Amino acid sequence: MPLVSTRQLLDEAAKGGYGVGAFNVNDMEQIQAIMEAAKETNSPVIIQASRGARAFAQDNYLYHLMLAAAELYPQIPLAMHLDHGNSFETCESAIKLGFTSVMMDGSLKADGKTPSTFEENVEVTKKVVDYAHERGISVEGEIGVLGGIEDGHGAGGSGLARVTDPDQAVEFAERTGVDSLAIAIGTSHGAYKFTKKPDGSVLKMDLLIKIHQRLPKTHLVMHGSSSVPKDLQDIINQYGGKLKETWGVPVEEIQLGIKNGVRKINVDTDNRLAITGAIRKVFAESPEKFDPRDYMKPARAAMQKVVALRMTQFGQAGHAGDYTAISIPDMAKGYANGSLSTKPLVAAK
Ligand SMILES: [Zn+2]
Repeated sequence: MPLVSTRQLLDEAAKGGYGVGAFNVNDMEQIQAIMEAAKETNSPVIIQASRGARAFAQDNYLYHLMLAAAELYPQIPLAMHLDHGNSFETCESAIKLGFTSVMMDGSLKADGKTPSTFEENVEVTKKVVDYAHERGISVEGEIGVLGGIEDGHGAGGSGLARVTDPDQAVEFAERTGVDSLAIAIGTSHGAYKFTKKPDGSVLKMDLLIKIHQRLPKTHLVMHGSSSVPKDLQDIINQYGGKLKETWGVPVEEIQLGIKNGVRKINVDTDNRLAITGAIRKVFAESPEKFDPRDYMKPARAAMQKVVALRMTQFGQAGHAGDYTAISIPDMAKGYANGSLSTKPLVAAK
């Protein structure tokens, strides 16, 4: 199957009542781990790359690895997504390269650190939507500001400082026409999200439910949604690591989100933990080994295990064969004739 529009993947997920994991990659082994997990569980999947990943791997390597994945797994609907685009130019370059969706994170200024104003966010996101939709590419926006920093991107601090306002979310969706919307409900990027198991005082699932009721046609996206499981932390610390005790987003909260409009769930940290734990174990137990395959193979297998588990928990498992790809030019036609519009006020008429 050619690379598929993320919008089509999310529309299908909405029809089926499930969520789709969007897993970050920087290299070949991570792409291989995700594709093997998708095959194992028969799942459609989104693979995403941040600006940091594009700088690390270089665009051409990344893109051709993705094409290889699509070629090797023709039965798997696979979308290639830009995570946290910081400017129109970053999104434009991703679209020119062949990404099938982009995130324009206009909640921050182009430095990727300073919170922007609502008007600035609307303006840059609308510009990306106009450019992308004309080319059949879907767009994720962000309203409200997540906590933490990852890959140098983020405002830092607590995820509760700037949670999403539902009225603003509706106005934002109407004025920009985004396909999907990342909302801030208390989550943070990185491994250190919560200092104890999160309850309703720090993870605002009630806010998410309210936003979904107001925006039923806009797919919601949960960022910073690794679960940071204790067993993965323990492996790292058992073999010489020094992670501080921390809590992520419990899977049952993500599942509650999926029941309430969440269609894309971003997971990065859990995979990083799995890879690092597996490599540390080999180094500690077999210090005589020096062939990178001796530790990359278990690292890749450890990541595949986490991804396959998340695919099952998010409900995307078993859905790879539900549909065939709509071509990107046909997606562009759908945007042009209005059949793919998600605007809430248009939808209400
Ligand atoms: Zn994010």
